[in-house]
Amino acid sequence: MAAKRLDGQQLSQTIRGEIANAVKQLAHSSGIIPGLAAVLVGDNPASEVYVRNKRRACESVGIASWLHRLPASTTQAELLNLIEQLNQTPEVSGILVQLPLPKHIDEAKVILAINPLKDVDAFHPENLGLLTAGHPRYLPCTPFGVQQMLSRSGISTAGANVVILGRSNIVGKPMSLILMQKPSTHFPEAGDATVTVVHRGTRSLEKVCQSADVLIAAIGVAHFVKPEMVRLGATVIDVGINSVGGKIVGDVDPSVAEVAEWLSPVPGGVGPMTITMLLYNTLRAAQLLRSQTE
Ligand code: NAD
Repeated sequence: MAAKRLDGQQLSQTIRGEIANAVKQLAHSSGIIPGLAAVLVGDNPASEVYVRNKRRACESVGIASWLHRLPASTTQAELLNLIEQLNQTPEVSGILVQLPLPKHIDEAKVILAINPLKDVDAFHPENLGLLTAGHPRYLPCTPFGVQQMLSRSGISTAGANVVILGRSNIVGKPMSLILMQKPSTHFPEAGDATVTVVHRGTRSLEKVCQSADVLIAAIGVAHFVKPEMVRLGATVIDVGINSVGGKIVGDVDPSVAEVAEWLSPVPGGVGPMTITMLLYNTLRAAQLLRSQTE
C-alpha cells in the first residue's frame, strides 16, 4: 500500500487564491490593505529564508509587507521600542517577530509586548488563553495549517484518536487544543477528537502511537516515526523539519507510506500551509482592527 499524499503546496494555492480574493474585497470596500511587519534580529540563515518566503507569500496575495532587520547586538529595549512603534502604526495589521531571538533577549517579554490584535502568530498569552477557552481570535499558524490540511482533505477528526508527538508552545500544545475541543460557531475548526500528547517523558510511546487514527509528529528528530509505530490505514502528518546531509527531511520515516492511508510529505506538506495560515491571520487582523475603529 502506498499512502495518499497530503499535498500542502497544492492546498496552499487554493487557500491563497481565497485569501487574495478577500484582500481585494477588503481594499474595494474599505481601502484597507492588510500589512505584515516582519522583524528579523541577527543573521540566522534559516530565519532569513523563512522571512523571505513569508514576505514573498504576502506579495502573492496582495498583502503589504515590511522587513525590519536588526543586528544581533540589538538590545531588548531597542526591540521592545520597535514593537511599540509597530503597535502604533495603522498600516501594520500583523507583527511577526521571527524566532529564535539572540540569547540575551527574553522571547516571552517580546511576545507580551505585541498588541494581541496584531499577534498573527498567536503566541501572545491572551490569544493562547482565548484558544484554550474555546473562543480563539487567531489560531497558531502551524497547527492551523495541519487542521486545514485534514479538514479540506475530508479527513474527519470527530471521535477519532489523535496522537500528537511533541508538546511545544508553537506546535504540539496548541494542536491538542484545536483538535480536542468541541466545534461551535466561535470555533468551527475545533476537532472533537480524543487527543493524546506524547513527549520525551512518555512511557510506552510506541504503543500509544499505534492507537492513533491520526498521528501528528512534531518533535524535530529525523525519521523518528517508523512503520511499526503506525496503525494500518492511519493518517500521518509530518510537521518536522530536519536538515540531514544538507537535505530537509521530516520526523516520519518514508517507509511509513507502506502502512498509512494518508501521509503529508516534507518538504511540501505542513511548511507551505504554515505560511498560508499566516496570510490568513494577517487578513483577519486587518478586518478585526478595522471593526475596532468603526
Ligand atoms: P521543540 O523542540 O520546541 O519541541 C519538541 C517537542 O518534541 C518537545 O515537546 C519534546 O518533548 C518532544 N520530543 C523531542 N524528542 C523526542 C523524543 N525522542 N521522543 C518523544 N518526544 C520528543 O520543537 P517545535 O518547535 O515544536 O518543532 C518540532 C519540529 O517541527 C521541528 O522539526 C521544527 O523544525 C518543526 N516545525 C515545523 C514547522 C512547519 O511549518 N512545518 C513549524 C514549526 C516547527
